Amino acid sequence: MNTSGRHFLQIPGPTNVPDRVLRAMDFPTIDHRGPRFAEIGQQALEGMKRIVKTEKGEVIIYPASGTGAWEAALVNTMSPGDKVLMYETGHFAMLWRKMAERIGLQPIVLEGDWRHGADPNAIEQALRADAGKDIKAVCVVQNETSTGCASRIDEVRKAIDAADHPALLMVDTISSLASIDMRMDEWGVDVVVGGSQKGLMLPPGISFNAVSPKALEVNKAAGLPRSYWDWEDMRGPNAKGFFPYTPATNMLYGLVEAIAMLEEEGLENVFARHDRLAEATRRTVRAWGLELLCQEPRHYSSSLTAVVMPEGHDADAFRDAVLRNFNMSLGAGLSKLAGRVFRIGHLGDFNELSLTGTLSGVEMGLAIAGVPHNKGGTQAALDYLAETSPYREPIKTAAE
Ligand SMILES: *Cc1c(COP(=O)(O)O)cnc(C)c1O
Repeated sequence: MNTSGRHFLQIPGPTNVPDRVLRAMDFPTIDHRGPRFAEIGQQALEGMKRIVKTEKGEVIIYPASGTGAWEAALVNTMSPGDKVLMYETGHFAMLWRKMAERIGLQPIVLEGDWRHGADPNAIEQALRADAGKDIKAVCVVQNETSTGCASRIDEVRKAIDAADHPALLMVDTISSLASIDMRMDEWGVDVVVGGSQKGLMLPPGISFNAVSPKALEVNKAAGLPRSYWDWEDMRGPNAKGFFPYTPATNMLYGLVEAIAMLEEEGLENVFARHDRLAEATRRTVRAWGLELLCQEPRHYSSSLTAVVMPEGHDADAFRDAVLRNFNMSLGAGLSKLAGRVFRIGHLGDFNELSLTGTLSGVEMGLAIAGVPHNKGGTQAALDYLAETSPYREPIKTAAE
């Protein structure tokens, strides 16, 4: 087992945590009810509003993984037996559906083939067919981490408007936040569900709801039981930067630093970087002669790429060869895709050389595991990245 150098954590979350964030967390934990904490709490809450692009909405931060924020979104807005329209983009969409069932909701599932993003026409038709307006929410996963297909949330919004339907729009952005654009106000998203350990470059441990004024209104009459997740309990103390129970203090130090890093680079540049690295990855996968799982170019994910294993080859044996030989973890196929795909995470704290190192490791792993492929496919990424580098021109100094 090769353990030299830095481990390449190329699963699509948790992702590599930058040194700046690790150092920002490496401070003594302070009194979360004291005056110094309030400033950190406010910076974190205000900063997250800029990340999801909301001025009208509010952000709630939980000491929980993303799954907790999924539950919070549902229990704060729904009543027992409510119908929710859920789109089957893949494994994560189906886990959210299972949760909805367990807590007493009635999910209506629009079936998908796990190779495309959500189809807005299917959503529009389902909403038009709901004459009694019984559907209370439309739930979509923006970036389906199990398949590498991303759904177009602007189009989902248009579909809901075209059907003139009052359902809330809830979007899971756990593996897209800060990697793929989320315009909460512009797209009329009512609840954004986010997590810390993917595009936000933090360790696992905190998660988010961003909540629209409409969702806050619906919250008042929502009848599902809730306690730990209750938005109202949070909103009171949050107004002054405090929390009703112990927050993940050191994670919040890290969050403030991660937001600073994202804003120094510029959010739009962050998205463009993810788009470019994802395109370079796909070019190399094609050059190897392997198949992308996502079949719709408009739905290609900029956070990860899922690659179909050639018939007769086990994706997990291949991943094991990569880990043993090159100290790199790749994402496994989940549920019905187990053993059939591997996933390359290219999100968060990631650049050209981390990508080309990753692709070199994949290419060597394919050779070691005896997976048929065209040698030298990594060159396609090198060519594309050199051609499209935004820094090709020398920087002019003030003296010139
Ligand atoms: C990772 C992930 C989740 C689950 O989040 P946890 O932090 O593991 O609870 C849910 N949805 C999507 C799209 C994800 O990528």
